[in-house]
Amino acid sequence: MSATYDLDDDDDAPKAKGGLFYEFDCTECDANNPWAEGFKAKDEVTCHYCGQSFEARVSEEGKLKLKPI
Ligand SMILES: [Zn+2]
Repeated sequence: MSATYDLDDDDDAPKAKGGLFYEFDCTECDANNPWAEGFKAKDEVTCHYCGQSFEARVSEEGKLKLKPI
């Protein structure tokens, strides 16, 4: 018998895949923005919902951080 574990990562910050992020959650309006072409640290992304622009930053743990610009 195998116990069922919740595999959901409790860290809700997007993680980079191959150095690129493919989505972000807007810190202004909380909307989830898929980013099909991918973005990396220091790229500029814009929320599709509220229009806020961010500079992508990546923490030492590899978590995405967004700096409003
Ligand atoms: Zn937004």
